[in-house]
Amino acid sequence: MELKDFDNKVVLVTGAGSGIGREAARAFAGRGAIVVAADLNEGGLAETTRLIAGPGGRALAVTTDVSDESQVRNLMARLKKDFGRLDVAFNNAGITGQAHRIEDYPTDDFDRVIAVNLRSVFLGMKHQIPLLRRAGRGAIVNTASVAALTGPGGMSAYAASKHGVHGLTRVAAIENAAHGLRINALAPGWTETPMVAAASAQNPGFAQLATSAIPAKRGAQPSEIAAAAVWLASEASSYVMGQMLVV
Ligand code: NAD
Repeated sequence: MELKDFDNKVVLVTGAGSGIGREAARAFAGRGAIVVAADLNEGGLAETTRLIAGPGGRALAVTTDVSDESQVRNLMARLKKDFGRLDVAFNNAGITGQAHRIEDYPTDDFDRVIAVNLRSVFLGMKHQIPLLRRAGRGAIVNTASVAALTGPGGMSAYAASKHGVHGLTRVAAIENAAHGLRINALAPGWTETPMVAAASAQNPGFAQLATSAIPAKRGAQPSEIAAAAVWLASEASSYVMGQMLVV
């Protein structure tokens, strides 16, 4: 039997124009949700909404830069006006930034990675929590990374941003557990998305080494990571709070 446990729930997915976010948006919609798909990439969003509408799903695309507070505020105002509620937020948009040793790392790039990966999660939760609380029950899932637990050489900005997402998630979970909100992080390992394809093309030797070091000897498909995000947002994980699920 088809599971429709998100029927009529309003689910916000950021970074929904590609990769893990797109697959999560499709999975939520397939389970009955009204998906609000946010991304900088308009073309990517159009493709995501097309993929959702094909089998009869519901999605609204809102072009948004998640690192910009006024755009995040406008997104939440739109959501409030159109639906009057929010049940789930999947704060997933992210970038890897360049790969350099710390002494060579361009400061502008460091700031941009922190803004897109970490500041966005702070801004997202800041503006989502009041609306989520109105429903009396809800969930937030923030995309971290295995780089929230490790220190991959060359990736100082990325690792710092994802360690930060882990910390923010734990604070938010503690602050909101008594208000019916469950807040968790998702830490994907190597996942075959356009982000990774671009990085692999730049450094095929590293890509080969990295995938051969994975016990399963393959990266994840974006849909496999999306399935874990959906589980963390679903009633099936109703007593899971403040965790970072490594997938
Ligand atoms: P992706 O590049 O396929 O998708 C990321 C999406 O985020 C893109 O559509 C992009 O346009 C959007 N985005 C970037 N900056 C934005 C901004 N400022 N505002 C709004 N949208 C913006 O990448 P993905 O692999 O699906 O990554 C999704 C998340 O998963 C990221 O947070 C990433 O750090 C994390 N992650 C990915 C992997 C992996 O191996 N692919 C591993 C660990 C963590």
